[in-house]
Parts: sequence; structure tokens; C-alpha cells
Amino acid sequence: MCAQLVPQRAEFGPVTVFFGDKSGKYPDGNQVMVSGRDTLAAFDTPLVANRIGAEFEAADMVILGHVHEDHMAGLHRVPRARVFAPEADLAAARSWEGLARHYGYAAPVLARLKAKIEKEFFYAPRPDAVGYADGATWDLGGACVRALHMPGHTSGHTVLLVEPQGVAFLGDIDLSGFGPYYGDATSSLAEFRRTLAHLADVPATTWVTSHHRGVLTERAKFLDALAVFTAKLDQREQRLLGLLGERPRTLDELVACRLLYPPGHQDIWVDEAERRSISQHLDELLAAGRVARLEDGHYRVA
Ligand SMILES: [Zn+2]
Repeated sequence: MCAQLVPQRAEFGPVTVFFGDKSGKYPDGNQVMVSGRDTLAAFDTPLVANRIGAEFEAADMVILGHVHEDHMAGLHRVPRARVFAPEADLAAARSWEGLARHYGYAAPVLARLKAKIEKEFFYAPRPDAVGYADGATWDLGGACVRALHMPGHTSGHTVLLVEPQGVAFLGDIDLSGFGPYYGDATSSLAEFRRTLAHLADVPATTWVTSHHRGVLTERAKFLDALAVFTAKLDQREQRLLGLLGERPRTLDELVACRLLYPPGHQDIWVDEAERRSISQHLDELLAAGRVARLEDGHYRVA
């Protein structure tokens, strides 16, 4: 048997954060567990869940803040736990067909992606998952979880707030250097903008992200990280305008230039995610009259 590193952890009253590899950098993530008097809840189940052991596998329930392959990677270890997913992401939790629509990629890309996530993320759908709405609460005994719908990354994406301790699990509003991700079919740049504008209103004193950032416990540092993360949207818009300022370009040409990922970066879904993300920026710029679409499909600065 291979020796496995025991994940590092941090504790905030009833909340334990198990850090994934590199503070949960994708493909890993950070595992949040909330231990109430009556109920042990897990928030999402990233890859690191597979290295925790009994402290994870004793979970009575899993509350998914949103649905993506890297947040379902430990579900196979808790077959008897109740699984909750945001209503708008519920179909994606319940079946591959739902998850495929959630990604919205072309069929050949989806086929390759399914094989990859089965192998690398232990992907298995949860037809027993139950939906929850904005404002839903779970009383775990001495700790209560409240769902705050904050869409954009996915249409169901939800912040899970543990009260009265004031620990907010931000999920994939991850405050990472990569910036916001809105590359899938149910993602929305417009909704992500609204979410980021309201995130500071969440009454928290500790903020936990799924990836890379890990835990922030100082409000000033959280606000700084949020400002840098939000600024990525304007930087991407400026990059797009710069590319179109050089010469008119088609969507395919812009996808080849990359907006989210570094130039030349390739993975199964990357072209599709770039296409979806760039299209949303172009739609905003077209609506604002800052970009025009030519009859031959090229975009130019207006
Ligand atoms: Zn995600």
C-alpha cells in the first residue's frame, strides 16, 4: 500500500477544513466538514476527501455548493449520505446527461471528458440527490448552514454560510489568480458580476474557498482578494479589446488567442470554455456599442 500524506487541517469551532494538494489547487480542492451535535455535514467532496478517511466517511450529509467533477470526487465514499444540490444544478448531480448539459460542450469533447472524470475524479452520478433553494437551512445542532444563491460560475452556485460561527464556504468564487470561471453552458458572466458585487455583504468572519486560496480570516485581506479577483473581468475585457484593436478577428481566432488560459494551453474542454467565455464578453461589448460584428463574422472595435 502506498503511504498517503494526511491532509493538513484548520479548525473554526465546529468547522474543519482539510486542505487539498497546494491549498486545493485544481484538480484538488479543500474539504469543509461541519460537525454539529446531531449531524456531520460535508460541503462538496473534492479529491482530498479520498485521503481523509473515517472523519470524512462518517458524513451524514453532503451539501454541494455547486456541481462540477472536482466537487463530486468523494461522493463514491459516502453512498449512504444524503446529498443535497442547488436546484439549478440538481440535474447535473443526478445523471451524466444532466452533467453533459451543464457543461454544454460538443459531443466528442463530452465523450472524452466523461472517460477522464471517471478515471481521475471517481465520477459517479447521484440519482438520489435532493434539490435545495436559495435560503435553505440545515440545523446540525449548535451550527446552522444557510444557502446563499450566488450564481455565475454555474447557475446554481451557492455560498454555504455556517452560523453563528460566520464561516462562509465560497466554493468556486475561489479568489484565485486564475480569476472567475464562467466557461460552461449554465455559467453566466453577467450573474458572476452581480455575485461579486454582493459577496462582501455575506455576514462572515472566515472565508473558505474550494481552490488555492484556502482560508481567509481577516476582512481586509478578503476584500483585497475579492477586488483583485473581480478586476480580472476588466483585464479580460481589455485584452479582448486589444486583440480586436490590432485587427478584426473571428470568434475562432479569438479562441485560439486564449482569454482565460495562457496562450497555447490545451486540455479537453479548454477550446469550449474559451468560446463560451469570450462570447459572453463579446455580447456585453456589442450591447454597449464598443464592438461591432461584421457580416463575414469578424469582430472589430466600434
Ligand atoms: Zn466549479
